[in-house]
Amino acid sequence: MIIVMKPEATANDLEAVKNKIKNEGLDYHLSQGSSRTIVGVIGDKKKIAMLQMNSFSGVEKTVSITEKYKLVSREFKKEDSVVDVDGVKIGGGHFAVMAGPCSVESREQLLEAARAVKECGVQFLRGGAFKPRTSPYDFQGLGVEGLKMMRSVADETGLKVVTEIVNINDIDTICQYADMLQIGARNMQNFQLLKEVGLTRKPVLLKRGLSATISEWLNAAEYIASGGNYNIVFCERGIRTYETFTRNTLDLSAVAAVKELSHLPIIVDPSHGTGRWQMVQPMARAAVAAGADGLMIEVHPHPEVALSDGDQSLKPANFKIVMDEVKQIMKIMGKTL
Ligand code: PEP
Ligand code: MN
Repeated sequence: MIIVMKPEATANDLEAVKNKIKNEGLDYHLSQGSSRTIVGVIGDKKKIAMLQMNSFSGVEKTVSITEKYKLVSREFKKEDSVVDVDGVKIGGGHFAVMAGPCSVESREQLLEAARAVKECGVQFLRGGAFKPRTSPYDFQGLGVEGLKMMRSVADETGLKVVTEIVNINDIDTICQYADMLQIGARNMQNFQLLKEVGLTRKPVLLKRGLSATISEWLNAAEYIASGGNYNIVFCERGIRTYETFTRNTLDLSAVAAVKELSHLPIIVDPSHGTGRWQMVQPMARAAVAAGADGLMIEVHPHPEVALSDGDQSLKPANFKIVMDEVKQIMKIMGKTL
């Protein structure tokens, strides 16, 4: 349930509402809008149904939410949230681009990619040090060595680091080197991992699961938010359908759906979304036009020898062409890098 306070509600009114919720053994999260406060009540459904908050002074109305997610919902917060990643903003007109290789392979590879993407105005270096591969015989990533390379190359080139976490035990180590934690498609419903990153205050990039519905995806974000970490950015990366020409089917309608249902930013990954480098350019353009708050694009200096996802990785020269076009569409959409 969401309790909408009146604009003229006093601090005492809010205090009484909070006390009532606590006394009933429930919990709350506050959303401070420009003119009013919204109280999101969380806990046992039956207890919430018994709460009679409309009679409280300062309460304008209560809204019961049919969906289970609350804190990430548009009903809870009307304004677009802006996620701040160590000074780089995402959402609410701030466009973010995360680019780099699928896997960190060597310092030379990473540096070449980082320099190329930085030149195009990109803010984030992406790269996997811990890779969730379909086959155990595929390259699994350089681990901590890869994280160290990411940090040093990002610092050298003036970029932020976004990298994937696959294991709860790595959380402290990754937080030490990364500015943003990526939860990959395969872990979108790893609830233990979601809870743990919810306890940190590190911004999280939450990719959509291979076959996750929008509602499941928003509930995954709710797991993170309910731990107190509201710094969440969604990433549409394609879903599994009957189509086999593309690696996944990039669901750009998810951008519009998430914008309607949630106040959190959403970016699009046309690399995993299509699996074909030739399709990254048109899909990146379409993502911006659909209202995405950013892009994640795989860029490799030599895709033909990439240890993972070479088929969908752009060469730096092609990435520059994509970015030039994206910047023009961004202007129309009222977004800035
Ligand atoms: C990745 O970003 O390299 C990755 C593994 O993505 P996803 O989880 O979307 O497959
Ligand atoms: Mn990849």
